[in-house]
Amino acid sequence: MTAYLNGQFLPLDEARISPLDRGFLFADGAYEVVPVYQRRPFLVEAHLQRLQRTLDGIGLPNPHTFAVWRELLQRVLADSAFDDQALYLQVTRGADSKREHAFPSAVAPTVFICSHALVSPSAAQRELGVAALSVADSRWLHCDLKTVALLANVLLRQQAVAVGCAEAIMLRDGLLTEGASSNVFLVSDGVLLTPPADQRILAGISRQLVLELADRNGVPCEIRDVSEAEMRSADELWLTSSTREVLPVSTLDGQAVGSGVPGPLGRQMAAWYRAYREQATRRVDV
Ligand code: PMP
Repeated sequence: MTAYLNGQFLPLDEARISPLDRGFLFADGAYEVVPVYQRRPFLVEAHLQRLQRTLDGIGLPNPHTFAVWRELLQRVLADSAFDDQALYLQVTRGADSKREHAFPSAVAPTVFICSHALVSPSAAQRELGVAALSVADSRWLHCDLKTVALLANVLLRQQAVAVGCAEAIMLRDGLLTEGASSNVFLVSDGVLLTPPADQRILAGISRQLVLELADRNGVPCEIRDVSEAEMRSADELWLTSSTREVLPVSTLDGQAVGSGVPGPLGRQMAAWYRAYREQATRRVDV
């Protein structure tokens, strides 16, 4: 499997970084995960734009133009054994010769890309929905930036997995924020609801696509704060992410969501999403 590290393409198991890398010492870095279908990256421009926003947000100059990023990503995905992939890229503030919190000067960033087989939810999970656990959002207040500082997300996801749940759904000050690695939508009396993309959540690329598909298909939609009570009495609850697309939640804290089986709007949205993605990543056979 080919990876890219700081100007070189090499087998992933030969890639090495310094223990002084600021990604390792301080989680001082940004990342993106771009889904690839049939060897075509899906919504790559939106991912590169979000990378730019994260880099701007942490004061780290983008080491590459979008055109160069596209080339590097293309090379790594072309070398993969899989048609459907999760393409990972990371940029850190590099490795200085000492450990010092403040930004180093004249240190080159570390740029890393690798790709793995895309792991999508199973047919049963799509059909029956998944279990979720509600947890207190213990993260910092720059959740809009996609940084590698993911320890809170890791611990909360683990808490969910430990009790047989697929995702932790977070609440801050009595309001829904998002999943440990997903955005959350709910359907209440036929209206689609999701929290605003401010500093409390990541502006998911799939969240944005779902909002566009809702708009295009005339689904009434409100982007606003969602209370815990509203979440618990929702008719439908979904997770969205680039790798899970639109995934229904059938139980929250062991209680059935709505009727306990995935609802009609979620099914419809998953179908619209799939159709959009297939159209966008269709192989053009000549
Ligand atoms: N929120 C968090 C915290 C995430 O890690 C992810 C996954 N990247 C998402 C939301 C969903 O984002 P996207 O739709 O861009 O995958």
